[in-house]
Amino acid sequence: MSAAPLLRVRGLNGWYGKSHILQGVDIAIREGELLALLGRNGAGKTTTMRAIMGLLSRTEGELEFAGAPILGLPSYAIAQRGLALVPENRGIFGALTVEENLKLAARRGSPWGIERIWAMFPALGARRRTPGGKLSGGEQQMLAIGRALVTGPRLLLLDEPTEGLAPVIVAQLVEILRELKAAGLSMLLVEQSLETCMAVADRFQILDGGAIVWEGGSQALLAAADVRSRHLTLE
Ligand code: ATP
Repeated sequence: MSAAPLLRVRGLNGWYGKSHILQGVDIAIREGELLALLGRNGAGKTTTMRAIMGLLSRTEGELEFAGAPILGLPSYAIAQRGLALVPENRGIFGALTVEENLKLAARRGSPWGIERIWAMFPALGARRRTPGGKLSGGEQQMLAIGRALVTGPRLLLLDEPTEGLAPVIVAQLVEILRELKAAGLSMLLVEQSLETCMAVADRFQILDGGAIVWEGGSQALLAAADVRSRHLTLE
């Protein structure tokens, strides 16, 4: 029998004001696994990540992390338990330097110290005294990932990390995700690009209309042309 998943989401419902967006989402992520969450614009991918992080004003359902319920906890308490979100807008402080952005987020005891971030992202190390707002899009994305890592997460949630980036930078990010996976980090990856996901994901789930409509491995997803055309935009 397999061990209990690190993150278990069951029947998750979520609202923005009166809009009922998440309609019973079920997700399980095992320790060390990279799960890709796919779906068209507006399917509810970002809302799912925000609900997991305790950032929606109203959520219902079951949400368990490392065997303990986390639904209803404030987002700082969810972060303290070992979840970290790299948001779509990256959320870095533009007026603070790269190093200051990392130091603000860093937590004692994290296996990802700032030196390890410089080693993983040499371009960031070279620009450590540069304000975050002056970085390129790719560097900002790396800083956003670095900032999540220095909190010492057990589960990293990445919301469209490759969006708007040049192919050469996307390839670098894919390498980074592979390194993180090799280091044993569990991840939930939201992506529009199926190609990027195919390169790193262990398993896939597809969200449509606020609910999971399909799940499986890469071979099954490649074989399921009807599923892709019905629920995804990009190939
Ligand atoms: P995208 O790729 O566009 O980010 P997504 O799958 O992440 O798509 P969500 O951002 O989760 O989709 O949006 C799901 C639904 O919730 C959409 O119908 C969207 O219009 C709605 N929505 C998103 N943010 C808000 C908000 N702050 N207030 C009200 N409705 C929202």
